Amino acid sequence: MSDKLQWIDDALAELREKGLYNTIRTIESPQGAWLVVDGKRVLNFCSNNYLGLANDPRLVQAAKEAIDKLGVGPAAVRTIAGTMSIHVELEKRLAEFKEAEAAIQFQSGFTANLGTIPALVGRGDAIFSDELNHASIIDGSRLSRAQIVRYPHNDARTLRTLLEEQRGQFNRALIVTDGVFSMDGDIAPLPELTRLAEEFDCMMMVDDAHGEGVLGHGGRGIVHHFDLQGRVDVEVGTMSKAFGVVGGYVAGNAKVVEWLRQRGRPFLFSSATTVPDTAACLAAVNILEESTELVDRLWENTHYFKDEMVKLGFDIGQSMTPITPVMLGDEKLTQEFSRRLFEEGVFATAIAYPTVPLGKARIRVMISAAHSRDDLDQGLAVFAKVGRELGVI
Ligand SMILES: *Cc1c(COP(=O)(O)O)cnc(C)c1O
Repeated sequence: MSDKLQWIDDALAELREKGLYNTIRTIESPQGAWLVVDGKRVLNFCSNNYLGLANDPRLVQAAKEAIDKLGVGPAAVRTIAGTMSIHVELEKRLAEFKEAEAAIQFQSGFTANLGTIPALVGRGDAIFSDELNHASIIDGSRLSRAQIVRYPHNDARTLRTLLEEQRGQFNRALIVTDGVFSMDGDIAPLPELTRLAEEFDCMMMVDDAHGEGVLGHGGRGIVHHFDLQGRVDVEVGTMSKAFGVVGGYVAGNAKVVEWLRQRGRPFLFSSATTVPDTAACLAAVNILEESTELVDRLWENTHYFKDEMVKLGFDIGQSMTPITPVMLGDEKLTQEFSRRLFEEGVFATAIAYPTVPLGKARIRVMISAAHSRDDLDQGLAVFAKVGRELGVI
């Protein structure tokens, strides 16, 4: 009898052969500057916990109190009977924080993109999309059935040419970009893109997953960073990175948000985030509203670490954010570098093809406000040691 799942074994074997098989490490401690990974205590240089909120006692306390008051689950999708006061409160607070007209919560940043793009464009419409946009933007775009027109990364000039040539062939159009690109840490030219959207009658959408809690005053995100409040129709956000919890949202134009309550399919057909998640998200927003301390510390740590890495002689690419790609180029060297870092007590992942182009392999260091100066110094010393050992510096 033939095994109808044999193809999976074959496909997995091929991944292993090509060095593309994903081995997933298990973390046995709370998130923070240090982790216990596979039984070993290591310095954490790879999570998106930019502000150290994932295990902040204030978020933990808020989640506990909310459970005591409201239980754990929402028990239905939002539109049937699952909207609780705590969800409404979070949306209101997020809109205020982002200085947007309104906000709507989704279960994740991924579902926010999946739900939003098909609600805005469909057959006969166009999506002008940066070639390096996140997988959830690509999937949401495909679901919409609109024509996808990819433009070269961060290239507003070529986008203009494409709009001049093609905009007239479509009914509605959407320009969509990541705010911060997670592999290089570079920032989208949002002012130029927004001007093009206005000139060519396109809706403007930015996914600011790696920008909120990081860019803009007190971490209000890329729209605030460029002073574009009121001009970007859709700002997608996640609560799973700087905010330290889980969940997604759209902030922006009130009409768009109203429409998503009627037509955003993950909003209509999938249950809301749980009570403790939502309460912890609210606590995170409140912390960011109250003080810029964590965001300031994140940037201090970022500048310190990057300056020291450059002094050591590492190539850290063109990042403008706490994402620090240590460019090594060769795939095998990068795997070896990451393995040696781990042996020396530093957890920093190797990123290679197909996530980034061949020959552009790197170790991606994620700096956090949770790191003390001493943590950073320890990490730098290990990078220096391994870098010399492997002939990189
Ligand atoms: C991480 C990320 C997402 C997904 O966010 P989740 O809330 O974890 O689903 C979406 N878009 C971008 C650009 C991201 O970096």
